Amino acid sequence: MSDKLFNVIGGAQNYAWGKHGASSAVAQFAHNNDPSFPIDESKPYAELWMGTHPSVPTYKAVVSTTETGVVTKTKGETLRSIITAKPEENLGSKVIAKFGAKDEIPFLFKVLSIEKVLSIQAHPDKSLGAQLRKADPAHYPDANHKPEMAIAVTDFEAFCGFKPLKQIDHLLQTIPEFRELIGEQIVKEFHDEVQPEKKDDENNKKLLQKVFGKLMRTPEDQIASYAEKLVARTKSQPELFGDVLADLIQRLNVQFPNDIGLFCGCLMLNHCNLKKGEAIFLQARDPHAYISGDIMECMAASDNVIRAGFTPKFKDVEVLVNCLTYSYNDVEQQKLQAAKFSRGSGAANFALYDPPIDEFSVLQISFDGVSELLVMKAQL
Ligand SMILES: [Zn+2]
Repeated sequence: MSDKLFNVIGGAQNYAWGKHGASSAVAQFAHNNDPSFPIDESKPYAELWMGTHPSVPTYKAVVSTTETGVVTKTKGETLRSIITAKPEENLGSKVIAKFGAKDEIPFLFKVLSIEKVLSIQAHPDKSLGAQLRKADPAHYPDANHKPEMAIAVTDFEAFCGFKPLKQIDHLLQTIPEFRELIGEQIVKEFHDEVQPEKKDDENNKKLLQKVFGKLMRTPEDQIASYAEKLVARTKSQPELFGDVLADLIQRLNVQFPNDIGLFCGCLMLNHCNLKKGEAIFLQARDPHAYISGDIMECMAASDNVIRAGFTPKFKDVEVLVNCLTYSYNDVEQQKLQAAKFSRGSGAANFALYDPPIDEFSVLQISFDGVSELLVMKAQL
């Protein structure tokens, strides 16, 4: 194997929201890649990181085969130190010129296994990232943007972007707790003025922002009491909620009782189901949350998160309400279609996940359905 292409050993993270034991794709990937990685059935395995982030190092795997043919892997140098030793050779001058770092690749590649919903969040674009970092460095650890792409490896569900306006209007009209919380005046204004057939319309976006802003600025104790009534309503009148929402609200209420996420997530954002191989790309300043399942995730190197719900962490409500794009779209429109890879040849099948950003694209290579390989590169 050449110097340029080598096995790596990533770092697993045991956050409480991860799937437990061997049911976790993180544990399976880590163990299959490195048989000495132990799987403890009582432990959650949430993330497996592959990249140059210093807090969870990735190592070059030193592969050896014993006389009886058993392959073993041990940790060699870190990926970061290999790159730092010869940045021009390992990153290339174009990547260094474009992204400015000599010790880091511009993306982080992960496996995620989710048992419990992650926080509803949005990420800044580059100019907002720089602004937030300057104004509030305690909450915004870097000045970068954080585009993310999720590719399902099992059935996966997420919240992704605002629902079509017709659906939000219908829920405001029919769910009494949602209507009361937002208030008659804003509900009426939304109903009278919104023009759902108009795509990407500024007035529609302003009306949506009013509803979302009212919700996010409501004091927590009021939210909790509306949420309690909302959950009771899903049991007494589940037919009001359509096929999915009553069950979803009850399920997430077990994880985060009486949380604002029941409103801003379940009632305002698209509930998106992905099958293995399907992908979503999460644009800057669009709200989203991962709910359950296993994915490969690729993201730009950043930790900037603006949270809205399902979290005990800090919510920067004014920044959140003012920064979102308020794009609204059908759930199918949120998916990223894999493209053919023109340079692919031979017996393998290739699928290119190529989001409209510079930091990364992901190439899936499958060999007769037997095994798969995902590789990624910074685009030039
Ligand atoms: Zn995110």
